[in-house]
Amino acid sequence: MILNSIQHTARHQHQCAGCGLTVHSGERYVRAQVPDGGRAAKAAFHSNCYTRLAASANNTK
Ligand SMILES: [Zn+2]
Repeated sequence: MILNSIQHTARHQHQCAGCGLTVHSGERYVRAQVPDGGRAAKAAFHSNCYTRLAASANNTK
C-alpha cells in the first residue's frame, strides 16, 4: 500500500481512530476513511494503526 498520498505531518494534535491515542503535532499521520467502517467522514490515524487496520480489512478477501 502506498501511504504517501494520504500521509501528512500533524500541525496540531489529533486523536487516532485506530488506537484512540493522541497523534502529536509534528508526527506523521494518515488522514483517510476508516477501512472497514461505514463512516464516510475521514479520520486521523497513526501510520502504523492505519496500515494494520487496512491489512486486517483486506484479510477477508
Ligand atoms: Zn494509533
